[in-house]
Amino acid sequence: MEHRARKRFGQNFLVDQGIVHAIVSAVAPYPGDAVIEIGPGLGALTRVLLADLPPESRPMHVVEIDRDLIARLHRDYTPEEITVHAGDALKFDFTQFAHEMKTAGRRVRVVGNLPYNISSPLLFHLCAAAPWVQDQHFMLQKEVVERMVATPGDSEFSRLSVMLQYRYAMEWVLDVPPESFDPAPKVDSAVVRMEPKPESELTALDEKVFAEVVAAGFSQRRKMLRNTLAKFVAETGGAEVAAKAGIELTARAEDVPVEAWVGFANEVVRGRAG
Ligand code: SAM
Repeated sequence: MEHRARKRFGQNFLVDQGIVHAIVSAVAPYPGDAVIEIGPGLGALTRVLLADLPPESRPMHVVEIDRDLIARLHRDYTPEEITVHAGDALKFDFTQFAHEMKTAGRRVRVVGNLPYNISSPLLFHLCAAAPWVQDQHFMLQKEVVERMVATPGDSEFSRLSVMLQYRYAMEWVLDVPPESFDPAPKVDSAVVRMEPKPESELTALDEKVFAEVVAAGFSQRRKMLRNTLAKFVAETGGAEVAAKAGIELTARAEDVPVEAWVGFANEVVRGRAG
């Protein structure tokens, strides 16, 4: 039976086989890798990933929310081929999954043509699992990928850029036009590769404070940091401390590199500790 695409689940199914194969080649699963796909839908990527998957890597895992699609996945694939995790990817415990797989000596590869309506919260949700994940390949709205890989000074450099670049090395893989999907989305898309950075590079003393400072800094993009970060500057002991960490208070958030955000947040932590 034909499946009618559901807007509320961000369903735009990939139909361009060239793009499907390009994504699977970028993932290039290695024997033993644990592959987990978010939102397999009608299986465009799943089918080709499975065909490429060495026997040691089976079953591959999929997380899908749509009941009709879940029923289809159970009908079209055997349990030896895929394990279906029925439910909301935003609630799926990727940390437990990745930890379990990594402990069993397997590299965790996360893949997905993500529902665009929940892509930012999903990217943040996945951050918790990063220490046990090898890499993530995601199709996203092109504008989101632009923000993910933007550098300081770019108008796309945003809170998302800082928070994700702190945790991942990210690389643009390919552009995907709307015609590659059915139904065609109204926006352009792109595929991005995300590789978690080693723990030794994660130097924020308190990630909550780091997130808090970055959110405040970008809360009013047009304003100078003197205004948006005033409360935190007071906690560090003054503008010189901010400048030493690399933050000029006359600058705007989009001009400040990730290391400076981390350095400044660490001064706030030190200031709070007294
Ligand atoms: N992978 C398929 C493809 O490339 O053709 C489908 C991609 S479609 C853009 C997004 C998929 O994610 C759909 O199958 C949709 O039902 C599923 N989805 C949407 N929201 C979800 C959620 N919160 N948790 C899990 N899956 C979700």
